[in-house]
Amino acid sequence: MTEHNFASAVKKVRDALGPDCPEARAPEVSAVTSPLPGEELTEDDIVALLDTGPQEQQTVFALADKVRKHFMGDAVHLRGIIEFSNYCVRNCLYCGLRRDNRRLLRYRMSIDEVLKVAAKAAAAGYRTIVLQSGDDFHYRADDIARMVEGIKRTAAVAVTLSVGERSRKEYAVMRQAGADRFLLKHETADPDLYRRLHPGMTLEGRLECLAHLRDLGFQVGSGNIIGLPGQTVQTLAKDIMLLRTLDVEMAGIGPFIPHPDTPLASCPPGDLAMSLKALAVARLALPLAHLPATTALATLHPDGRRMGLSCGANVIMPNVTPLEFRRLYEIYPGSIALRAPEDGGIAEIRTMLSSLGRPVSETCGHSPKPEWALPTRVADISAH
Ligand code: SF4
Repeated sequence: MTEHNFASAVKKVRDALGPDCPEARAPEVSAVTSPLPGEELTEDDIVALLDTGPQEQQTVFALADKVRKHFMGDAVHLRGIIEFSNYCVRNCLYCGLRRDNRRLLRYRMSIDEVLKVAAKAAAAGYRTIVLQSGDDFHYRADDIARMVEGIKRTAAVAVTLSVGERSRKEYAVMRQAGADRFLLKHETADPDLYRRLHPGMTLEGRLECLAHLRDLGFQVGSGNIIGLPGQTVQTLAKDIMLLRTLDVEMAGIGPFIPHPDTPLASCPPGDLAMSLKALAVARLALPLAHLPATTALATLHPDGRRMGLSCGANVIMPNVTPLEFRRLYEIYPGSIALRAPEDGGIAEIRTMLSSLGRPVSETCGHSPKPEWALPTRVADISAH
């Protein structure tokens, strides 16, 4: 890192914000503001912003907080996650759900069970339900569509899917059922590292799925892991550049936490400071994206959620999976989700947010980009 690069990268963001950057503006107003602060950041700028010591990183955090406030406001969106199956056909080296982990007891929830849990979550106040599973083809696209339709029939919530790689045709069925968003992390933008960590899979294949999701009119989420073995600051800069190229509506960026029953058991976890910097720099590069303070960050450090919310995050994703299943959805061990009550700990989260002066959003929290201001016409979706 040179001082010049760091200073010029910070200046680019400050210049785009303007000298009299007002406090929070309505997102729909800021959405048409141009240029956005991160638009002119180059890959070298992003490396310089990530490659900072303790003093400069405070500048990055403060700037990210300002950009978050300006473009996304103070409200924090709560997305309730239902992990409905821990079966997975993939074998990602870092994940406790990988198919070769024979020690893990596997479960699948029925469609009815999912609908009951979703109804409870909506009654508890969640305005987005996230349906998440391993890559489990036991559930056909029609099954997932029935979950989405059932949830939408009974509650005024947005539905996000996080069910892995499927064909365009299957994604189209899910979208037609009314799913609003789809989360498919790219995990790492380095194609070789991707291949090594995901046997039988390629970054290219991942990006193809993301292109289908974009085409089909989903609000698209992606994201990456911080601290994977073999990753460098340059790789992380490429991750953020890729998220910007994909123009994602949301990005989950959280630390690697090793699982004892995986090939990466002995690798060190992701670094807290780098995880926060990556989140903050992502906020600078993606002012209009929803960025969660991830559960992995909160698992890495007891104050991780609060720290993330002060570095650009505006979303929390509490886990509302029934406790009997939650402990089995073990991508990494010791998740803080295991200590939360059945409703994901919404009361504690409200208390924590209120201590930060951050209200809980009362809306579904769609993307503030102008194209999402109007409901998309799902009838127009084509599978081809
Ligand atoms: S990261 Fe996802 S796709 Fe990979 S093994 Fe885990 S659940 Fe399966």
